Amino acid sequence: MQQYADIVVPIARGPFTFHIGDRADELTPGTGVEVEIGSRKRYMGIVWRLHDDKPKFATKAVGRTMTCVPLLNAMQMRFWEWVASYYMCTLGDVMRFALPSALKPSGLSEEELRRDEYRPATVSHIRLGSAVRNAEALHAACESLKRSKAQYKALMELCSHFEDGGLSGGSLPRSELSASSQTIKKLVDKGIIETYDEEAAVLAATREHRQKYETATLTPAQRKALDEIRHSFDTRECTLLQGVTGSGKTEIYMHLIADMLAGGRSVLYMMPEIAMTSQLVARIRAVFGHRVTVYHSKMSDRHRAEVYRRLLASDGGELVLGVRSAIFLPLPSPGLIIVDEEHDASYKQSDPAPRYNARDCAVWLAHASGARCLLASATPSIESYVNATGGKYGFVTLNERYGSALLPRITISDSLRAFKRGERRLHFDKALLDRMTATLARGRQVMLFQNRRGFAPWVECPQCSWVAKCPRCSVTLTYHKQGGRMQCHVCGYSSTAPAVCPKCGTPSPRMLGLGTEKVEEETATLFPDARILRLDRDTATSTSRYEHTVTDFERGAADILVGTQMITKGFDFPGLELVGILNADNMLNFPDFRASERAYQTMTQVAGRAGRSGPDGEVVIQTSQPDHPVIRQVQTLDYEGMVNMQLAERSIFGYPPYGRLIKIIMRHRDERLLNETAAWLAARTRELFGNRVFGPHAPLIEKAGGESFMEIMLKIENGTSAAKVKERLAKIISAASRHANYKRVTVFCDIDPQ
Ligand code: ADP
Ligand code: ZN
Ligand code: ZN
Repeated sequence: MQQYADIVVPIARGPFTFHIGDRADELTPGTGVEVEIGSRKRYMGIVWRLHDDKPKFATKAVGRTMTCVPLLNAMQMRFWEWVASYYMCTLGDVMRFALPSALKPSGLSEEELRRDEYRPATVSHIRLGSAVRNAEALHAACESLKRSKAQYKALMELCSHFEDGGLSGGSLPRSELSASSQTIKKLVDKGIIETYDEEAAVLAATREHRQKYETATLTPAQRKALDEIRHSFDTRECTLLQGVTGSGKTEIYMHLIADMLAGGRSVLYMMPEIAMTSQLVARIRAVFGHRVTVYHSKMSDRHRAEVYRRLLASDGGELVLGVRSAIFLPLPSPGLIIVDEEHDASYKQSDPAPRYNARDCAVWLAHASGARCLLASATPSIESYVNATGGKYGFVTLNERYGSALLPRITISDSLRAFKRGERRLHFDKALLDRMTATLARGRQVMLFQNRRGFAPWVECPQCSWVAKCPRCSVTLTYHKQGGRMQCHVCGYSSTAPAVCPKCGTPSPRMLGLGTEKVEEETATLFPDARILRLDRDTATSTSRYEHTVTDFERGAADILVGTQMITKGFDFPGLELVGILNADNMLNFPDFRASERAYQTMTQVAGRAGRSGPDGEVVIQTSQPDHPVIRQVQTLDYEGMVNMQLAERSIFGYPPYGRLIKIIMRHRDERLLNETAAWLAARTRELFGNRVFGPHAPLIEKAGGESFMEIMLKIENGTSAAKVKERLAKIISAASRHANYKRVTVFCDIDPQ
């Protein structure tokens, strides 16, 4: 009999060893128990491993088993272990993030923990008492009730619901019996019936499965793609589907999903948060109805816990529509994981730990659980594209749009030239203005994209060098006209916009640069009759306001929609004909090796909103670099050209997919201490990894929320064991954490940073 249990607790340290007395049978791995860490702080912990290795320190006794058991299944345990080792964090970090908070009370006193423990919603049930579950006893019971009419009637009602009268223990929700609670209580007291509670979430998990779903009839091109995917899944775990915007990828998923559900297996369908529109959810619900479970960041914690419990209790046939964190749900009998818009950077979590990439986790999970993984995008990430063309993944393409829709014509407008020739008004070039006028005249709709919110991202004094900056971060403040305040988009700091320069007293600081608020205002000036809507984080302050804007635009209640990234994904607006990208330059000039790839993806996605229901889609891209290769590649839909050019560049520098990156990030308020620590860590890292080490250097945003940051980059060439590298790196970091001075600095790793 094992004596000890290693218990994972939702804090960065651990697992912790406890002695378990003779409870080895009860404490199977995955069970939730109450444990005490430090003095008087109680946590819900998860039994991870039982063993007999007596630790050198005195162990405490493990506490009681919590009400909801188990907390995770065997597959999840393997997954958490992989995440912790691959992304260099502890199982506690994974637990803290992966379990809904309601399921993991932590850092509380004993009383608080009892009070906060998750109590699932239950449904009261009724069945025959065990003593009367034979014909003779039941008959006798009936006889005894001859003079208590109400009780007799209640018993008859219960029995009438079952073919065998309920003798085999069949039960009924209390709410289905019409008897009063008094009557029920009397019957319970006599032992003729008994009541018990069933967890509502568990009941919901056992509802009926349907076999047939009404999916759309596919076009020949779609059918071909679907057949190729199925065929590819026969031999490969992972397949990449590259399908142009509006080609009907979602319709293809629905066929694959229907296959899986009919076979009793579950599907996880992941998408970026901003692509999970109500339009899309409604489309999926229309086909799969009550099988659909939606999981996103705006759900209440209680609701999350219920979803989690229900999936844990289910034996399959579930369809979960979720954002990146849904990868941690206990998907029962997984058959397929779909990663839509797989190139999207939001699949990567940068903070807090685990700093995981849900797309890469999906590939691992599918492999580990015998499921299939479908990565899909109009503009796949270069990494996935290389995996697909290199034969590691299957590769399927779909190059035509559905119906009469054609891909939009793309016009490039040289903003500098337009300005010089006097063909620019405010931030709009003539090429865009002319097309807007024509589109609006035809009663069709326009969408304007600018990837910055607020009015002006740069407030400066016209006289001296003063620029409004956040006191806690190394970024400029963005002026928001609505509210008249300047805001930090990194930490949320805000202050009123000064009427005069705080440095030299010159009045009226200039509001420079272009945010969506200014785009909206200028559009109203230029098109005074147009009805304009704006969609960004400032207008979409609640789900209902967001929905309103989208629905209004969809039904043609507005002519122009101005927005940030929020408008680039997932939408299908039938009246939308023209898309304007106001300034491509800030995407092209971003200092990152992925900038060109991302610029291509973003522009192609925005452009893809145009003309989805007819042949007249148009896009105008304004830029001061009309000859930039990426602009040309977007215009000619030359995805391969973009990839080849980027690959050529990356191979020189050993960037992914030619190597892997690990970023060591350090942060502290004291800049001197931080720099010393960074230098020390870089030197230790160089001793082991030589010229694979770059830095230390300050990141793009070197100060945030009052803390300064430093980074060291490690490039590992393909073919080297990343696991070994991480092991050695962990030793160096652990040495820093024991160093007299440097231990005060927070150090962590970001694996495959985006
Ligand atoms: P994608 O995800 O590739 O951008 P969608 O799946 O959103 O494309 O399809 C674009 C539009 O075309 C949607 O409105 C969709 O309902 C419609 N559509 C695509 N394929 C079909 C089909 N086979 N039958 C009916 N409608 C389709
Ligand atoms: Zn000044
Ligand atoms: Zn700030």
